[in-house]
Amino acid sequence: MTGSLVVVGTGPGNADLMTPATSAVLAKATDLVGYGPYLDRIPTIRADQCRHASDNRVELDRARQALSLAASGRQVVVVSGGDPGVFAMASAVFEAVEAGEPAWRELDIRVEPGVTAMLAAAAEVGAPLGGDFCAISLSDNLKAWTTVERRLKAAAEADFVIALYNPASKARPHQLGRAFDLLRSIKAAETPVLFVRAAGTVDSKIVTTTLAGADGTTADMRTLVIVGASTTRQVGRWIYTPRSEPGVRS
Ligand code: SAH
Repeated sequence: MTGSLVVVGTGPGNADLMTPATSAVLAKATDLVGYGPYLDRIPTIRADQCRHASDNRVELDRARQALSLAASGRQVVVVSGGDPGVFAMASAVFEAVEAGEPAWRELDIRVEPGVTAMLAAAAEVGAPLGGDFCAISLSDNLKAWTTVERRLKAAAEADFVIALYNPASKARPHQLGRAFDLLRSIKAAETPVLFVRAAGTVDSKIVTTTLAGADGTTADMRTLVIVGASTTRQVGRWIYTPRSEPGVRS
């Protein structure tokens, strides 16, 4: 039988935010490959399905293992959280294809979209991503911290709403504070800042503050941070960014 590899995302955490297309792909798989906690989110669908759980840091090994299984004829699904293309396994799979066996380029490889954390977090508070926005990962595991700073500065100067993924971890406790310091040197003190932990799940927790009051220790690895643009504001209980610039149209 010809093998295949589909990269999927489970969404932000709750089962109902996993797409029906992703559920259908999972139901057909012979092998599930992924970080243990993401695999645990998937109920057992078939007793004959093999699960290959791994540690979080070994993305490339995991991708190679998945490609080898697909090359041997298995129906493989690689599982990420959120969307598989946003700071996740889909790129790791293509990195492995690029550096790996020429035959892997002929494999049936597909990516199934999912609900990324930024969208679930935005929906919890209103519509902060309603204007132009960008996403930046604060992790410097795979890029230099000077690159992160350069991008933060450019995003602040261009007045984007900024979604910060990977804002903090035990190994990197100080970076979010440094990011806020940099943003404070460019953006207004009253800019809304949102910390959304476990967005899109029953455990979600929201902290709303301003750039002046933002504390880097508020976030952990399950938190998505949104820093507003100059137009982002509060209306009632909600935070939103209007679609238009001031004076253009109302
Ligand atoms: N592929 C994932 C992102 C992986 S990077 C996606 O599309 O969502 C991991 C980071 O995503 C975390 O450090 C955190 O910043 C964010 N994240 C993932 N799930 C989240 C959730 N339910 N709530 C808030 N942030 C989340």
